[in-house]
Amino acid sequence: MAVPKKRKSKSRRDRRRANHDKVAPKNITHCPKCAAPRMSHRVCGTCGFYRDRTVIEFVDPAATDAL
Ligand SMILES: [Zn+2]
Repeated sequence: MAVPKKRKSKSRRDRRRANHDKVAPKNITHCPKCAAPRMSHRVCGTCGFYRDRTVIEFVDPAATDAL
């Protein structure tokens, strides 16, 4: 079994562990139709647009109240 030759200082150990909880930045792009920020390869959450067509139709919330 490998045995460490030198003991690492607390600060070196903590600096190494500090990277463990890092969150990778999400790949944010903008919708070509409404320019709202969205994740790449995902349907736009604002207008439902993906790959040159509308995938999800959003219903106006004011119109739904009348039902
Ligand atoms: Zn959009």
